[in-house]
Amino acid sequence: MQGHIELLRDLCLAPGPTGFEAPVQEVVRRRLTPFGTAAGDPLGNVWLEVGPADGALVVVAAHADQIGLIVTHVDEQGFLSVERIGGLAPLLVPGRRFVVHGRKGPVAAVGGRKPSHIIPMEERRTAPELHEQFLDIGADGRAAALERVAVGDPVTFAPEFVELSPGVVATQALDDRGGLYAMIRALELYAEHPGAVRLMGLATVHEETTFMGARALARRLRPDVVVVLDGDFCSDTPAASAKELAGEVKLGAGPVISRGAGSNERLCALARGVAADEGLPCQVKAYPGETSTDADELMAAGAATLTVGLPMRYMHSPFEVARLDDLEATARLVAAVARRIGEEGGWTGARRSRPGEERP
Ligand SMILES: [Zn+2]
Repeated sequence: MQGHIELLRDLCLAPGPTGFEAPVQEVVRRRLTPFGTAAGDPLGNVWLEVGPADGALVVVAAHADQIGLIVTHVDEQGFLSVERIGGLAPLLVPGRRFVVHGRKGPVAAVGGRKPSHIIPMEERRTAPELHEQFLDIGADGRAAALERVAVGDPVTFAPEFVELSPGVVATQALDDRGGLYAMIRALELYAEHPGAVRLMGLATVHEETTFMGARALARRLRPDVVVVLDGDFCSDTPAASAKELAGEVKLGAGPVISRGAGSNERLCALARGVAADEGLPCQVKAYPGETSTDADELMAAGAATLTVGLPMRYMHSPFEVARLDDLEATARLVAAVARRIGEEGGWTGARRSRPGEERP
């Protein structure tokens, strides 16, 4: 299945820790230009719809933000203290390359630590807490550091984009730029052969910390159907099993359709049926409660919701691994699901129940 690796690369290499998503949203807006000017809100959410203006509204959402660090203090010697944005594990900091996104441009940094030979034996097995660590930008004192960085500057892993094998990509922020990729491609595919519904692509912000982007929009957009795309943990490596991860998820086996609290049961069945009809791979995972994705918030719109996982290894690390054909299959599935919803009808309950309210 042919994918668009340059789109995925642009999305993954754009820096966007929570609260600083603008460079990512710029990539999204640029790519969606053929369909018009994307709308947005002051929080940073971006959305655009294609298809007939009077059709039911199907929203496909992915989050633009990524985990990272934020500069909290610069000491007299010019070393930076940092705190986490989202779930970045402290053990991933020592010895790694980072980029501080300063006002004058990117600043290279490394995670500093004690020289290995003076780390006590019992401490070598564990990572120090983040407040015991620091970033080194090679500055000669505080004043020199402050020429290039400031308190509040966001920090990401040094961005690299590596193809491990053809179509198997290792890079930062695949969670959830892989979702943005599939969202954008779904819009492109749907626009080629639009059905009876409007398909809205939504790039949310603040997912990794508070889900606030989705929360702010859930009721405002008043969708009839919501599809949320986000990374899901693969169980296909020596480091994790299906038992530990509450279900089997394999790279290359297609989008992960969540069944249970994360999805409307009828919509879940429709998606599986569409995948079978279209010859698209898909896998199913049970979600007994919260999904820990934007779906938990967007569901508040009262619309039928489908949570779709993107098979991903090493989530929340500098090198998350995904397959381009899984992302492309996800896009095709979303476009086909939107068309099928249009053909079937009967999905407009949420919208009709609140007549008179205006959408943005
Ligand atoms: Zn995510």
